[in-house]
Amino acid sequence: MSDSKGSDKSKKNKKKKEKEPDITFFHPELLEIPEDGSPAYLKGYKCKKCGQLDFPKLTPCPSCWGTDFEMVKLSRKGKLYSVTDIYIGQPGMKTPYMFGYIDLPENLRIFAQMEGEIGSFKCDEEVELTTGTIRTNMDGLPVTSYKFTKPSV
Ligand SMILES: [Zn+2]
Repeated sequence: MSDSKGSDKSKKNKKKKEKEPDITFFHPELLEIPEDGSPAYLKGYKCKKCGQLDFPKLTPCPSCWGTDFEMVKLSRKGKLYSVTDIYIGQPGMKTPYMFGYIDLPENLRIFAQMEGEIGSFKCDEEVELTTGTIRTNMDGLPVTSYKFTKPSV
C-alpha cells in the first residue's frame, strides 16, 4: 500500500474494511469450486497419448512426452497415508497446522493441508476433500484452497 499520509485514520480504516476476501486459489488448474454449489473437486490430468494420470498437471507427460491432456475429476475421498503437525510455520500461516499425504483411488498421492484438531488424524483413515483458508496473503487476507478433513458423512 502507498498511502501518502497516515493522518486520515478513519479513511484508512474504511478502506481496509472494503477489501474483499481473496479467493485466489493456490492454483486454478488444481481445484474447481463449482458455482452451482456442488462439491469442490481436484483436477487430475490424463495424458491422451499414454493414459497416465497426474496431479498436479505435468507438462509434458513424464512418461511419453505427450502434451495433450484430458481433465479428470478426482475422487473427493481418499485414505490418509501420512500426517504431520507443523509448529514452526511459514509466513502467513498460523501454527499449529497439519499436512498430510492422501492416497486417492486413482492411485495418486496428494499432498495437502489438513483441517481438524491437531493430533486427531490417524494413518489409513478415510479423509474427504474440503476447501478453506490455507494461509493469508501479503495483505493479511485469507487465501482459499483445497484441504482434507474427516468425512462429513
Ligand atoms: Zn503420456
